[in-house]
Amino acid sequence: MTMAMTRRGTSHRLTFESLKGLRAEGYIRDSTLDQRDGSGPDIQRHDIQRFAESYSLILGQRWYTEFVSGRSVAGRKEFRQFIEDARLDLFDVLLVDHTSRFGRNQAECIRYKEEMQGLGKVVVFVSQGIISGSDRDFLNERINETLDEQYSRNLSRYVRAGKAEKAAKGHALGHAPLGYKTVKAPSGRGVHMAPDERIMPALLALLRGYACGRHSFKTLAQHLNAQGYRTSKGNPFTESSINQVVTNPFYVGKFYFHKGKQDEELRDGVHDVPEEVKTLWNECQEVRAEKARSGHPSPPSRQHRVYPLTGVLVCDGCGRPFHGVSTISKPKSYPRMFHNWHRCDMRPLSVSAPMVEGEFADRVLSQIKLDDGWEEAVIRAMTNEGSQSDCSLEVKRIESAMANLRKQHLWGVITDEEFRTEHVSLERQKRALEAARAPLMSPNLDRAAQLLSDLPALWQHPGVTPEQRRELAREVFEEVRLREGRLAAVKPRPEYAPLFAYSIWRYNVVGGDQSF
Ligand SMILES: [Zn+2]
Repeated sequence: MTMAMTRRGTSHRLTFESLKGLRAEGYIRDSTLDQRDGSGPDIQRHDIQRFAESYSLILGQRWYTEFVSGRSVAGRKEFRQFIEDARLDLFDVLLVDHTSRFGRNQAECIRYKEEMQGLGKVVVFVSQGIISGSDRDFLNERINETLDEQYSRNLSRYVRAGKAEKAAKGHALGHAPLGYKTVKAPSGRGVHMAPDERIMPALLALLRGYACGRHSFKTLAQHLNAQGYRTSKGNPFTESSINQVVTNPFYVGKFYFHKGKQDEELRDGVHDVPEEVKTLWNECQEVRAEKARSGHPSPPSRQHRVYPLTGVLVCDGCGRPFHGVSTISKPKSYPRMFHNWHRCDMRPLSVSAPMVEGEFADRVLSQIKLDDGWEEAVIRAMTNEGSQSDCSLEVKRIESAMANLRKQHLWGVITDEEFRTEHVSLERQKRALEAARAPLMSPNLDRAAQLLSDLPALWQHPGVTPEQRRELAREVFEEVRLREGRLAAVKPRPEYAPLFAYSIWRYNVVGGDQSF
């Protein structure tokens, strides 16, 4: 049976139900890594068989099996074989357990999948529920392709579990505020916030300075800098860094859960706060309230423009940065961002700052708000094989099958030999399932995921200053590249890359240009 899938694009509307009755073959990859994390060939075969059964595909017996040692792939013989067979129209659908089994890198995955698509064949990643090339699964697929294999398999589960656990225990999430540092938890798993004796004097000087009521944020920053105090990162104080301390209830032992979201909540933290800090911070609140009553807004009314993309916006031609320039003489066409004009042929030399910031928000940040949150989408993409409870259901199913088997044996319905064979097989499935579901650990990903999922809300939040926006942009992105006045690509920092793959953005931002 050959379905009319020869045109590129047909698979864009495919659902699992529409695969019913098609001829399928399985692709399996065998490696020491797969065996170690409990996803060896048996499990992959089992997942593929289960999928074919569930959706009534006719599963053939070819079982293309690749042997991989380390990171090298010997010859990709099986790849050539199934592509050859696809050309001869020997099957309609190729079933693969997981995107991470399919290729060593994204370019390779895409090449093979496109070749299959060109031949009118469908590739399905069964344990993630991804139909390759379908619009619905486009992002899932791209995320998984760009993830490191280990991340792709294990880390998302940890993100979710780790974050919930941390918040439940009252740990403030995100960066350590002034005077604090993140330290490894005694258990060795995760981090928590502890006072940093090195920076504590700066914090106390700041709080005392503001509590005395004589300073604005600006004059206090100047005062602290003149006395030689610096922030945790060793930078001079700014109005923004003063603002961050004076408005942060962290210093009375609280923390924000889901900051900037609808369900934002101020919770009691477990971090230690010295009594002196608490007292001073409360005094600062009185000063703030007093200033507000007497008509002294905390930030000065005349503020120079801050360019949130400074430090990340670069030219796609020469790689050099764009800098903000504002002038009062030509208010109509300014503020603008310029890049080094005498060293590069890329035009235009400058762009309107509000325009490029708007484009960044619309075309990059808004993409993070998928479904109910980017992070959720990433997690689903990576662990679509089922939640912990689904897994225990599956184990239960196998256990009840084993119980039935024992009954049948007891009643003499099956022979000793049949019982033994079947029992061994079920036992193995059960063990492998349990092993595959054992979570691994990732220390930084929960932090990254939290910030990333908060980013669109934070960026739009009226309480977030341009300086804070700039910090957010620098925290998450290494580069935002501008070509001919338009955003061409964005590159996240390495710790965000697993969640936020460069190529996904490249693809989305450029609108279909897949030049990796
Ligand atoms: Zn340039």
